Amino acid sequence: NWEPIKGDITFEDVTFHYPDGNENILEHFNLHVPAGTTVAIVGETGAGKSTLVNLACRFFEPTQGRILIDGVDYRERSQSWLHSALGYVLQSPHLFTGTIMENIRYGKLEATDEEVIEAAKIVSADQVAKRLEKGWQTDVGEGGDSMSTGEKQLISFARAVLADPAIFVLDEATSSIDTETEQLIQNAISYLLKDRTSFIIAHRLSTIRQADVILVVKAGKIIEQGTHDEL
Ligand code: ATP
Ligand code: MG
Repeated sequence: NWEPIKGDITFEDVTFHYPDGNENILEHFNLHVPAGTTVAIVGETGAGKSTLVNLACRFFEPTQGRILIDGVDYRERSQSWLHSALGYVLQSPHLFTGTIMENIRYGKLEATDEEVIEAAKIVSADQVAKRLEKGWQTDVGEGGDSMSTGEKQLISFARAVLADPAIFVLDEATSSIDTETEQLIQNAISYLLKDRTSFIIAHRLSTIRQADVILVVKAGKIIEQGTHDEL
């Protein structure tokens, strides 16, 4: 019965170490992201980019300090409160055993076939189905094994479009993707960044340029912050 989430996110003096690690990855970290902002996170490997996103998504919770969503400490609400307003595409996107259609519908179980196809078209994921003999009814294999990384990402983007979340998280794939699929993915990203709060762990310059703010992270700290033109 809560108000729909708008997507204003605040890290308030957040210190964090993983449950199985004793080293703090973040210490007294502060960040305010107004609703609708696209934040690109860049930095070298191990800098803490995925950790920031893990905390924002509540895959892990702060050891000290608070994370506020629309001004509310997310630990005061259920996991599903945040997760129903959250869409994400991770570096090695996870698909479920089942068909392409089922995998996209996972973002909104009540969607009709027409709605699923419409969402897929927006991010060109229909191109994936078109190339295959069984089309939308193609089995993606165990965990999506019979799809390429690019195809898995397009299917995941379609799932996010259908779900239309207030908060969208993308950990961009670094693995090689063919030029044609690459173009489709860039279009999909542009669509998904509009009108929602987005955290993008960015490798593509094209994505970084679209961000309202770029955070350069090093050893769990923001060392630079600004727009693409400023940095
Ligand atoms: P990359 O560009 O390689 O993805 P990153 O900036 O995303 O790097 P993180 O994954 O946030 O870096 O890792 C930051 C630190 O936290 C690293 O020292 C890493 O070893 C550690 N770490 C990451 N995930 C875990 C985990 N699940 N358990 C314990 N330590 C972790
Ligand atoms: Mg990472």
